This record gives sequence, C-alpha cells and structure tokens, in this order.
Amino acid sequence: MRNKIIVIGSGFSSLSAACYLAKSGFSVTVLERHSVAGGRARTLKKNGFQFDMGPTWYWMPDIFHNFFNDFGKSTTDYFELHRLDPAYEVFFPKKRHIVIDSGLGKIIDSFERYEPGCQLSLEKYMKSAKKNYQIAMNKIVYRHSLSPWDLMTVDTILNLKHFIQNVKKLAHKTVKNPDLRLVLQFPSLFLGAKPSKTPSFFNFMNHADFDLGTWYPKGGMVSVVQAMVKLAESLGVQFKFNTTVQKIVPNNNEAVSGVLINDEFHQTDIIVSGADYQHTESLLEKRYRTYSSKYWDKRVFAPSALLFYLGFDTRFKGVMHHSLFFDVDFDAHLNSIYGKPKWPSKPMFYANFPSVTDSKVAPRGKESCVLLVPIASGLKSDKRQQTRIFNQIINRMEKRLNLSLKDHIVLKEIYSVDDFKSDYSSTKGNAYGLATTLNQIGFMRPKLKSKKLKNLYFTGQLTVPGPGVPPALISGKIVGEYIASKHGRQLPMGNQKMSPLE
Ligand SMILES: Cc1cc2nc3c(=O)[nH]c(=O)nc-3n(C[C@H](O)[C@H](O)[C@H](O)COP(=O)(O)OP(=O)(O)OC[C@H]3O[C@@H](n4cnc5c(N)ncnc54)[C@H](O)[C@@H]3O)c2cc1C
Repeated sequence: MRNKIIVIGSGFSSLSAACYLAKSGFSVTVLERHSVAGGRARTLKKNGFQFDMGPTWYWMPDIFHNFFNDFGKSTTDYFELHRLDPAYEVFFPKKRHIVIDSGLGKIIDSFERYEPGCQLSLEKYMKSAKKNYQIAMNKIVYRHSLSPWDLMTVDTILNLKHFIQNVKKLAHKTVKNPDLRLVLQFPSLFLGAKPSKTPSFFNFMNHADFDLGTWYPKGGMVSVVQAMVKLAESLGVQFKFNTTVQKIVPNNNEAVSGVLINDEFHQTDIIVSGADYQHTESLLEKRYRTYSSKYWDKRVFAPSALLFYLGFDTRFKGVMHHSLFFDVDFDAHLNSIYGKPKWPSKPMFYANFPSVTDSKVAPRGKESCVLLVPIASGLKSDKRQQTRIFNQIINRMEKRLNLSLKDHIVLKEIYSVDDFKSDYSSTKGNAYGLATTLNQIGFMRPKLKSKKLKNLYFTGQLTVPGPGVPPALISGKIVGEYIASKHGRQLPMGNQKMSPLE
C-alpha cells in the first residue's frame, strides 16, 4: 500500500512538496484552510480588478524552470513569461531617479552615468554576486541544512569574508553615491533583514536582479500557482479546500498518526506542513513541540506589510510595472522595523502597476495598483496610521509621477498585519517569514524535520532555505527529497537542461 501523506497548506512550498512526493509514489492530500490555493500568493478580484495579494516580483526564472523541468515540463507549458524592460525604477529624495533597465550591460552604463568612474568596481561586485549565486544554488540551498556541515563547503570556507561582511558594507565599498548604494542593498530586503545584518554572500540577489532579470507571468503570480496545482493534480495529488487542520494527533510511538478536521480524525502516515512553523507546532501538545515560545520571541522576523489594493478609473501615462519610492530616510524606516518597532513616520514604499503589462488585470481603460509599505512584525493594525500613511504616500506619488491619482480611485482595499495573523496564523503577522540574518541561515533556521515526532516535517519560508517564492519551491523539493530518501525512493529529477530563458 502507498504511504499516505497529508500536506498542510497550499502555498508555493506545499505545492512544490506535494508534486515531488506524489511523483515519488506517495499518496498525497493537500489540506488548505482557504477556498483557493496559493497561500500568501492568493489573488484579490473585485469589480473587474485583479491583484496579486502577495508576491509580485518574479525573480530567479532558473529556479521556476528547474522545478517544472523536474517533471519533464517547462514553465511555458503553463504560462507566458515576459521579461520586463525596463525592470523597475527608483525614486530618491529631491528629484533624483534611476531606471533599472533589463540586462547587466545597460545597468552598468546607467550606474556609470549616475556616478562616473564606478564601472570597474561595479563589474567586480557583479562578478562576486554571480559567483555567490552559483555557490548558493549549486552547493548550499538544496541541502537539508540539518547539520552545520551543510553550510561548510570548500567554497563557503574560501568565501568566509562574505559571511562576516554585510551587504550594506559591501555596497558602500562598491559605489560612493548614496542612491546607488540603496539600489545595491534593495534586493536583500526580499530576504527580510536589514542590509547591515545580511551577510554579503547574499549579494547573489544582485545577480538575480541585474543579470537574471525581472519577469512577469501573464495573469500574475496566480498563473504560477494554477500551473503548480494543475501539475500536482496530474500527478494524483488530492486537494481539499476550506479545510482547516485543528490538531495534529500523535500516537504513543512518538510519531504522528493523523489530524483533526472539524473534530473528525483523519489517519495519515506522514505530515508535511507548509503553514507557518509556530502555528503548526501550536496544533500539537507542548511536549511534542521542537521550539518553545521563548525561541520564537528571540527570532528576527521578516517585516509585515501594509498593503493597499487600488483600482483607478483611468490609465496613467508614465507609470512603470514596478516602482520603488526610496525618497525618504531609508535607515529611519528600517529602524522602525528592526530597531524600536513603530509605524514609520515617512515610509519608503513599493508601487506595482501590473495593468501596465497585462490588460487582463484591470477593466478596459482602467489601472490596477498595489502599494506595499514594509512595517514591523508585531505591530497592531491601526486605522489612523493606515490613513495617515496612505495619504502621505499617495501625495508623494502624485508629486513624483506628476499625476492626479486620488481623484481616480474607484476601489481601495487595505490588508495589514492583523490580516496576516488571521488568514495565515502568522507569528506576529509576519509577511515573509524569518529574516535571513547570519544566525538565521542554513542549519540555524527552524529545521525541516521535527525533533519530537519522527514523521512530521516542515517546509516553507520559516524553515530552509528562507523567504521568497523561489526558496519556497526549493524548500518543497528538499523536504520531498528527504522524505523520499527515508523511504528508499528517488525524487524525480529533470535533465536540468538550460532554461530557454538563459
Ligand atoms: C506582501 C508580500 C509580498 C511578497 N513579495 C514577494 C515577491 O515579490 N517575490 C517573492 O519571491 N516573494 C515575495 N513574497 C514572499 C513569498 O510570497 C512567500 O515567501 C511565499 O509565498 C511563502 O510560501 P509558503 O508556502 O512558505 O507559505 P504560505 O504561502 O503562507 O502558505 C501557507 C499556507 O498554509 C495554510 N494554512 C495555515 N494554517 C493552516 C491550517 N491550520 N490548516 C490548513 N491550512 C493552513 C495557509 O492558508 C496558506 O495557504 C511576498 C510575500 C508577501 C506577503
């Protein structure tokens, strides 16, 4: 008889784990609390507008490609991908502004125009970013990270200085201009930590940004979710939506025997949870938890977010698919997240106008937009602060884009820290898991395997390798590979042919 596996949640990591496990011969059922798959990457649809509620940046196309390739498929079998050109723009204080084009050569030229003489040192920086990317992808992130040895490779030892130095320091060494320094630090924000606390090894995110490029899956990130669900179903995975796991039930053997749903017991041989880690363990009696609440209190969480989903009754000239508003004191905002948590007085923020690229995500002649303000995890949603921040950032946008925006808003939905708690049982309302600081990488992150229950496993942004959609795909693969190997099975592996995108 085939071993039964219950996968909790249907975020990217759970979908990935479900696919690998089904392909390895397990009987897999995904239990999802919401009515649709995707977790933090669900969509909001209203009055003809469509918004990606969570991720909007499709980076590291090679990781997506490798995932589908492992099943003999390609991304292009499921969705259309467009490389954005320009990739994005960044606004700085006063009237300063830079456009990040598509392709390293063009970006180096823009940097050189912005700071004459920086070309050589930027080229050197990007060389190290590429090398670190190759080390990370080929030697580190696909490891189970159950032991310190998983982080110790010849390459990481030779590269030790990159674990001691931080991204901010390295960016400061590379360029002198304060704006360009921020551009180099921006990708590390995806990793959920302050650039000054992110090891400079993670400058590989600059390779992802400048070299591998910014892509858009037509229809939005939901197209990727739907592709993974389709693939999973074709592999025999069963999905049960509107199904909340109430309890994980252990037997006397220090192993899980099933879950409770609506007070009914459902037997299983193995559980993989892609739900937030602390929440998953809260479904167990205390003695079966690997990590105490004290442990979680001491972790550095990635930020939460204040999000505005906006529908406009007109199209706008001159807006880009992705814009970053770093037109305020960057460090002051970071301190409001990682220092003394409080609502930022002058927040940096991110604006996403997907309808610029994709006419399907807004009614004809209209524009959809998501505004994201990173805030400290653990804050309480506060309507007064939300209104103040909204008014401030929309005014700043109007000024910088030279557009009248407020008068054209026909839809406005707000999503914030309390929503992350109620929708995902997210610890402190974190948006993207645990920060990638020096002592929260690899084997120092919560483990993919319970120490107390032998058939309980974890996947997703709270465990290894870390936050973000590509890491979630990898996380599902490594937990799948681990379980398969424990049961003498092999994981499907693609022929790892080069991505058609490269
Ligand atoms: C606002 C925002 C913007 C982001 N931007 C980007 C970006 O641009 N690019 C990028 O790469 N990454 C981005 N990220 C990060 C990325 O979205 C996440 O790292 C990734 O989607 C996490 O996937 P996951 O599988 O770990 O968890 P989740 O997506 O959170 O999945 C967990 C699932 O478990 C379900 N669940 C929880 N408890 C239970 C239960 N008891 N029973 C049943 N089901 C349960 C939840 O409903 C959910 O579906 C962003 C995240 C957010 C929130």
